Amino acid sequence: MVNYGIQFWSNDDFIIEDGKLKANYGKRPAIIDIVKKVREDGYRGPLLLRFPHLIHKQIQQLFNAFNRAIKHEHYEGKFRAVFPLKVNQFPNFVLPLVQYAQHFDYGLEAGSKAELVLAMAHARLGAPIMVNGFKDREMISLGFIAASMGHEITLTIEGLGELETIIEVAKMMGKPCPSIGLRIRLHSNGIGIWAKSGGINAKFGLTSTELLEAIKMLEKSNLLKKFTMIHFHIGSQISDISPLKKAIREAGNIYAELRKMGAKNLRSVNIGGGLAVEYNQHEGKQDRNYTLEEFSSDVIFSLREIAHNKKEPAPNVYTESGRFIAASHAMLVTPVLELFSQEYSEDVLNLKEKNPPLIEELLDLYKNVNERYAIEYLHDSLDHLESLLTLFDLGYIDLHDRSNTEILVQLIIKKVIKILKHKKHSDIIRIQKEVQERYLLNCSFFQSLPDFWGLGQSFPIMPLDRLNVPPTRSASLWDITCDSDGEIAFNAKKPLYLHDVDIKKEEYFLGFFLVGAYQEVLGMRHNLFTHPTELSIVFDEDGNANVEYLQEAQTILDVLDDIDYDTKDIERSLRQRIEDSTLINDEERKDLLGQLYVILSENGYLRTVLNGEK
Ligand SMILES: *Cc1c(COP(=O)(O)O)cnc(C)c1O
Repeated sequence: MVNYGIQFWSNDDFIIEDGKLKANYGKRPAIIDIVKKVREDGYRGPLLLRFPHLIHKQIQQLFNAFNRAIKHEHYEGKFRAVFPLKVNQFPNFVLPLVQYAQHFDYGLEAGSKAELVLAMAHARLGAPIMVNGFKDREMISLGFIAASMGHEITLTIEGLGELETIIEVAKMMGKPCPSIGLRIRLHSNGIGIWAKSGGINAKFGLTSTELLEAIKMLEKSNLLKKFTMIHFHIGSQISDISPLKKAIREAGNIYAELRKMGAKNLRSVNIGGGLAVEYNQHEGKQDRNYTLEEFSSDVIFSLREIAHNKKEPAPNVYTESGRFIAASHAMLVTPVLELFSQEYSEDVLNLKEKNPPLIEELLDLYKNVNERYAIEYLHDSLDHLESLLTLFDLGYIDLHDRSNTEILVQLIIKKVIKILKHKKHSDIIRIQKEVQERYLLNCSFFQSLPDFWGLGQSFPIMPLDRLNVPPTRSASLWDITCDSDGEIAFNAKKPLYLHDVDIKKEEYFLGFFLVGAYQEVLGMRHNLFTHPTELSIVFDEDGNANVEYLQEAQTILDVLDDIDYDTKDIERSLRQRIEDSTLINDEERKDLLGQLYVILSENGYLRTVLNGEK
């Protein structure tokens, strides 16, 4: 049975049972049942499902792993962590996160003024706030305001210019002054597609010469006592543990050296984020070569060794892992609108009295195809397709012939797949490379999976039901944007197989998983498709799943308003044009206005209904 590699990527968050995908929590609700219920209430188009219990789970796993390693190694420093807001700033993610964070020493990281304002409003007093990224005087002043509120805030300096500004602001604003961190520029490089954050040519951080200068500046301005942390971040989605180990050794030694130079309040090493998520759904194609346990014990072990050797106290360890915390909490559900080959059925075949010989042969192949010669017949039919299309281009056959050709070839493909269904999967794979089904999905990849479009990042994909039926069609996926990049093409090395369903009669939904990190805020409104309707699945004490915080996708007018159109003006113009039209009578006028207003008040995704539904 095909299980879409759920054992590799789902971390037991989801299971397959009775042919359905279920959340592995509480009473184990089937995702398809939740989706159908929400759609019954009139919400169409794609849905973003959040599972707040999975945010909790990830925070707990992170703290447990580090605290276990600390205990095991008799480590003297503490473990603390912050969530980097750039990974997901949406309220229905952040608010449950800060609520769970109460139970841990868990705070927030901000990389811009808006994120810092969020952190100042929502982080619990006493939970750490880290500020990274480039800062101007105003942002530094915000840091001082946060410190005055009683926040435990650390401003990480990315360059000496910033340090000068802090020293100036400190003179002006006085106490309380935020803690100061220095971002170090590592000599070791990050790896992977997000590697640009590390290495000697990195965008961020102080070189060793600049570090020495920074210490001098801090000393001179009497701020050395506020210097508490060094920080680095080697890049996101670290696939190989060895660059991290190197970075830790480098940072540990810098920590010990700076302490020896008199930075006595330097007590912490912040190792940034980068803990990878396993997105892979295929055997032998893992995205990372380590576990969370290995990651945490490597960090703690190396830092203990260095501190011990250099006779300095073991530093507190901070992490800023974002992807690891956020990715699993959200999934995207997309309705399948259409299967490309569905329009090809026997009853649309319109054969002539006398057909071109190659079409007669196709007809023969279709009638006589059997298990023994299935693949051979399939290849013959694909050859004939090529020849017949050439004949059409040269003017020898007409449009009817061409249509019959396309229908017959699709019918042969379907028949061959059906015949070979119970045979070895490798046979099917062989032919599937040549003949794929195209599934049209009611969503925008630009909006909902921007890292697929921008970085070629793949996300686990699977249907929500029919999981006790072997899928037979190799699939390429198309979104509804008018852009040919809105395609997830079939990849024979990482094949995706889906079911052959009659969309006119039954619904079929695909889930995209691990989309909770980065995708939402990076998503773009190509073709003006908006953030999908979102909802949270919250479990009560008895394990029942309830739909909460449902937020419908933006309406068409809201989207236009967002890009600064005067929507009143648009409405006025539309109404005027209907009212002034001489092509319709008054009754039609009223009716059209009514219809128009309904459309304007809905979101821009497609509204399709099954035959027989209203
Ligand atoms: C982006 C970023 C993070 C988060 O990285 P993940 O790969 O999501 O864990 C942490 N720290 C800094 C400084 C960052 O820029």
